[in-house]
Amino acid sequence: MLKSFRTHEPGLLSPRDLFLENRQLRQQLQELMANARRNERKFKRAQNQELRLISSASLAELVDNLLIRYRESSHLEWVTLTLIDPEYEIQRLLTESGGVAQPRSGVFFLRDDQHLRRLFHSCRRPVLGAYEAEKHSMFFPESRLQPHSVALLPLCDHNRLRGCICLGSRQEQRFLQSDGTDFLERLSAIFPLCLENTLNQDRLKKVGLTDPLTGVNNRRYFDQRLTEEIVRTQRHKKPLTCLFLDVDRFKSVNDTHGHQVGDQVLAQTAVLIRNQLRVTDVLARYGGEEFAALLADTDVAEAREVAERIRYSVEQYLFLLPAQLNLRITLSIGIATFTGAVDNAEIAGQQLIADADQALYAAKNGGRNCIITA
Ligand code: GH3
Ligand code: MG
Ligand code: MG
Repeated sequence: MLKSFRTHEPGLLSPRDLFLENRQLRQQLQELMANARRNERKFKRAQNQELRLISSASLAELVDNLLIRYRESSHLEWVTLTLIDPEYEIQRLLTESGGVAQPRSGVFFLRDDQHLRRLFHSCRRPVLGAYEAEKHSMFFPESRLQPHSVALLPLCDHNRLRGCICLGSRQEQRFLQSDGTDFLERLSAIFPLCLENTLNQDRLKKVGLTDPLTGVNNRRYFDQRLTEEIVRTQRHKKPLTCLFLDVDRFKSVNDTHGHQVGDQVLAQTAVLIRNQLRVTDVLARYGGEEFAALLADTDVAEAREVAERIRYSVEQYLFLLPAQLNLRITLSIGIATFTGAVDNAEIAGQQLIADADQALYAAKNGGRNCIITA
């Protein structure tokens, strides 16, 4: 590449030739440096992107890191994630790890790998090229505009296709079939590990924060959320209401029909309560036959209506149990509300629980199958 100015008689360069040659060398060096710096920036960016993906603490965070942060730092118009999820497990974990049921646009689920196998054949390397509607529209369905070039990255785990990441650009030249794919191959290899890691973290969290008998949250989760919700309530200045619900004379269910029937009654009761709550409400089994619910942005009057619907649905319900056994039970419910400002959210949370518990106690004394507000 170095053009020589020694056009005649080597070794005999005029000062002007020397000057010109020197200037061109400097220019070439500058270009090389600029190129190296560009590559370094590209490498650093890829490294930062990878680090962020690897350090994701939950599936929801991983998905956001890919769909939002990776897309922004790569200056792409589209990044979508497609996952094979035959048992709906990933969908469930994603909703739960997001805290609330938050639909994330850009994540798609397939029941099997048929379509992806056709796309990638046996080749498990990124596929780059022009956008083709019949092949690619399913990965970019939510926009009026279409990408002009795409990169499809297979996500494999022990040679099993688990899904794919799809990148789309408005620039035709962004992803060319002939391009090198080093960075994309790395992402394609690293992402399945990040996915498995965050799935496992979410699975562990779920086991530690869920009551195995009823499937609702356990007391540990409830106490954590209570403090968070108190803080949120203070910020948004909307009331937070707590319900304490206790099965009436549950001991006699156990005594008459046995512990196993008692267990089934508890599990079905949890479903009846859950059915009357919003997805965003927190429901936990607080202890033996006692449940607690947190209703955000809900005042006493609204909470009373919810409590009445729960009380009524349980009273009406004919519990279906083995050996043709049908059973009816009732619930007593205590309600307390938090509105004001406090210095210590944890203490305020404990006070809210104590108030709801006291109201529940009053409901028991008031004859059971009723609702009392603190
Ligand atoms: P009250 O109307 O005053 O609430 O009466 P109760 O009988 O419901 O209350 P008590 O506290 O006397 O009894 C609660 C019973 O719940 C005793 C306990 O054995 C039973 N229990 C607690 N946890 C479980 C469980 O996981 N499974 C079953 N089957 N029973 C449980
Ligand atoms: Mg009871
Ligand atoms: Mg009790």
